[in-house]
Amino acid sequence: MTTVQYSRSSAQLCKCLVNGTWQESHAKEHLPVHNPSTGEVIAQVPLGGAEDVDRAVRSAHAAYLEWREVPVVERARFMFRFRELLEKHSDDLARTVSREHGKTLAEAKASVQRGIEVVEFACGIPSLFAGETIENVATDVDCETVRHPIGVCVGIVPFNFPAMVPLWMYPVAITCGNSFVLKPSEKVPLTSIKMAELLLETGLPKGVFNIVHGARDCVDALLAHPQVKAISFVGSTAVAKHIYTVGCANGKRVQANGGAKNHIIIMPDADPDLTVQALKASAFGCAGERCMAGSLAVTVGEAADLIMPTLVSATNKMKVGRTDGDESPDMGPLISGEHRDRVRALITQGEKDGAEISVDGRNVSVDSAPNGFFLGPTIIDKAKPAMSVVKEEIFGPVLSVVRVKTIAEAIQLGDQCEFGNGAVLYTSSGSAAREFKRYFNAGMIGINVGVPAPMAWFPFTGWNSSFFGDLHMQGKESIQFYTQQKMTMTRWFKSASQFHDPIWKGKK
Ligand code: NAD
Repeated sequence: MTTVQYSRSSAQLCKCLVNGTWQESHAKEHLPVHNPSTGEVIAQVPLGGAEDVDRAVRSAHAAYLEWREVPVVERARFMFRFRELLEKHSDDLARTVSREHGKTLAEAKASVQRGIEVVEFACGIPSLFAGETIENVATDVDCETVRHPIGVCVGIVPFNFPAMVPLWMYPVAITCGNSFVLKPSEKVPLTSIKMAELLLETGLPKGVFNIVHGARDCVDALLAHPQVKAISFVGSTAVAKHIYTVGCANGKRVQANGGAKNHIIIMPDADPDLTVQALKASAFGCAGERCMAGSLAVTVGEAADLIMPTLVSATNKMKVGRTDGDESPDMGPLISGEHRDRVRALITQGEKDGAEISVDGRNVSVDSAPNGFFLGPTIIDKAKPAMSVVKEEIFGPVLSVVRVKTIAEAIQLGDQCEFGNGAVLYTSSGSAAREFKRYFNAGMIGINVGVPAPMAWFPFTGWNSSFFGDLHMQGKESIQFYTQQKMTMTRWFKSASQFHDPIWKGKK
């Protein structure tokens, strides 16, 4: 990890958001934030620790004590305003996403839109917040449940969706009556800062939403802080496990989304053109840096002969380029030079293991940006189940292909997978679709769709090492995660004189 001293920072210095104001971090060290299209440093992010965390969590806790008293209908109104501001500034937000992350502008806009949909879901929380009642659960006894917020909630997020993933968390947490501390990815802090400015513009009370910056030390301080009640994490599996284990041991409620290796199974009866288009978009969209990317194609029977030549030819035509200006490439750069080199090394390992590199993106460069972190789309065909390119999450524009004889074999390959985020089947057979939906070992299933990432109203239901916890992000489960229920049982005594003759006796 390259660190720079505070005094050397010339680019934008990211500040923490505490109690409604932007404050300098106590950090002694900073990391450069790059524009991955050019390699240029565009900001410095502080590597904050326990001092920054304590300041932000205390501010959040003080705000929470008042915020929880605000009626849920009024809390939701801040989300209506936030939604309007996000919509109004969505182009600017998308450009920031492209600049700091490297997504194409179209991909960045789509990701902002997906985030806005979660805010729309949060606007409807009052109607989802209701508890349950049974009148006369026993004679003269009523029983009811209501939802209470839980306190200071924390969000720790990855680099790959700078707008969408943080928006999975705080709009719901805040509308449920909690306060929030966000730790953006240290690789892409700028979108979170812009969105926070819009949230402040809604008039949200000070301290309800806060930001701290940093990496491991900052996260460990959040995991240990006694006033933190719940942690939402999205990132790699190794870190998700760490967050879940330590967070739970410290008595926090935790939901932790991890990495993925999503299998795309292609039957011989699949529509070849639609399949190739969807496969290309799924594997190489966002340069493969998506937890729902289709990263392993499993062709059944003669499906390989029907789709591979067209897929190879379509992939060879893809234009790789910079995403920070007027060019409109099909695919942008990876997040860092270090990550690009890791992906390259995994491709080389696949080649050494005996797979066939049918499209090779390892030497792709972009003339207008020689220092950008580019890698071309790559297809590794005839891979075998034991190879690292089949088992590991590569998180780059790489599609590995395993050829099997039957759908049963394809489903068994899914059983061997460590992860369990998404899986897709391309077919025109209803019964194959049903078998696949029922038996494939993953939490999010697609039939003839590219990326089965659920929209805001449905939970993001990863399985196995793709998720640690009980209650998932998004949808109604997110409201359960950010609230605790209280049950009240009431016995109603009747005064003997007033109800000498019970009212019900005279009723029709
Ligand atoms: P990452 O795990 O490296 O980082 C995620 C967050 O954890 C960052 O905020 C980072 O600062 C922090 N972190 C990193 N190392 C840490 C450590 N040792 N201790 C404590 N905190 C640490 O992930 P990333 O590289 O930013 O993102 C890519 C990963 O995220 C991929 O594995 C991808 O599949 C996954 N992801 C999963 C989902 C999902 O919903 N399942 C969604 C998006 C991304």
